[in-house]
Amino acid sequence: MRDAAVSVAVLPVVIVGAGPYGLSLAAHLSAAGIGFRIFGTPMAFWAAIARGGRERYLKSTSIGTNISVPRPGFSFPQWSRDRGLEDFEPCSMQQFTDYGLWVQQQCVPQLEQRDVALIHKEGPHFRLTLADGETLRAARVVLATGLAGFDSLPEPFASLPPELCTHTTHVKGFAGFAGQSVAVVGAGQSALEAAALLREAGASPTLIAREERLRWMNRVPRERPLIQRLRSPLSGLGSGPRAWLLTHVPGAVHHLPDDMRTRFVSNHLPAEGAWWLRARVEGRVEVLTQVGVTSARADGGADGAGCVLGLSDGTQRRFDHVLAGTGFRVDMDRVAFLDPALRGQIARIMGSPRLDAHFETSVEGLHVIGPASAMSFGPLFRFVVGAPHAARTVAGHCQANRGGARIVVPAGAPLRPVAATA
Ligand SMILES: Cc1cc2nc3c(=O)[nH]c(=O)nc-3n(C[C@H](O)[C@H](O)[C@H](O)COP(=O)(O)OP(=O)(O)OC[C@H]3O[C@@H](n4cnc5c(N)ncnc54)[C@H](O)[C@@H]3O)c2cc1C
Repeated sequence: MRDAAVSVAVLPVVIVGAGPYGLSLAAHLSAAGIGFRIFGTPMAFWAAIARGGRERYLKSTSIGTNISVPRPGFSFPQWSRDRGLEDFEPCSMQQFTDYGLWVQQQCVPQLEQRDVALIHKEGPHFRLTLADGETLRAARVVLATGLAGFDSLPEPFASLPPELCTHTTHVKGFAGFAGQSVAVVGAGQSALEAAALLREAGASPTLIAREERLRWMNRVPRERPLIQRLRSPLSGLGSGPRAWLLTHVPGAVHHLPDDMRTRFVSNHLPAEGAWWLRARVEGRVEVLTQVGVTSARADGGADGAGCVLGLSDGTQRRFDHVLAGTGFRVDMDRVAFLDPALRGQIARIMGSPRLDAHFETSVEGLHVIGPASAMSFGPLFRFVVGAPHAARTVAGHCQANRGGARIVVPAGAPLRPVAATA
């Protein structure tokens, strides 16, 4: 006799991640009446940076850091103004975190603060296992997990023990470095900010940069004469015609041939610091430019554990610790919660997922939004300013392809039914 069959609901959409991209998509799906569940810790990435010190600010202006909600009244500048806070720049990480939590509470109250532990492809659908063991099925999964797991620690730093070398993204606070000599490697915002915060916490930082000189962004006053505004319009990505075009025609870069687009994404922004950081670094922090680190080894030394760095100018320097501001490299093989078989089916561009015009990977129903989409969509998507386009596009695609969310499975299958509302 054939097994009796029961109907098990398959969720139309699951969003993994509750930062600006995941929350924006959730707000758009809600508005379109599409059933979904969303998992993650709201604004976790930003809260962790904010915990690293009060003097930590967004590099972008408030107009480039809106969480996209398809209703008026939810912009970051307006939220800030209503509370008497800075509404242009620099806005603190804590302020942005609080704004994100407010948007989540207002617009995405159904967020479940649980992690997704594993995603498998099962027939036409996805089977997700949460960290607490619950399993569910979804027709479509959108990954919005930001830069999590993509920190890049190249050689020679990778061979140093973790107690001597930390990637800037993993620094929990700077006070613990007081009295220590710290090599900060890199010339981007993370390295420059770490050097300033170390000095302010009573450490002795030395910034080591391969670049010829440190570069700083110019301050763009919010009130400017018309002619200047026309010549160098201000947009969420910064000032200038190129930033304006990228912001206002967000889907354009996707149409470029691969080699042109990947070169553009790789070279779009040089390593540079925000204007408000300059006075906290120049003349206050020891800076070595045009110097690379060629070797690194742990060194017990008479005064405790430390490390010796070999530098490209032929010298050696000893430090108590190394902070690596060596950036991020998207590599889908490092997304630990994707089943290896599923990972293997995702077509890549230099480690990043190859995405179609709807942010969909080569695996039907699996989407990626946020910084991991930049190789397919351009540099705008490394930043929060790309969230409105990503959210609109993916929600529009879900709406156009809704339906067919119910499947039939044999009785006794170990899945817990979930409610689908589409
Ligand atoms: C130091 C630093 C400063 C930056 N400053 C700026 C800036 O000023 N402006 C700007 O636009 N961009 C900035 N960026 C870039 C920024 O990282 C991206 O713009 C941003 O992360 C994009 O948001 P997101 O929603 O994709 O991811 P995130 O905000 O990083 O959110 C990721 C979410 O995924 C969740 N998550 C992760 N794993 C799981 C899992 N297994 N299950 C469930 N949930 C999971 C987390 O809980 C979190 O909710 C900065 C980056 C760095 C490193």
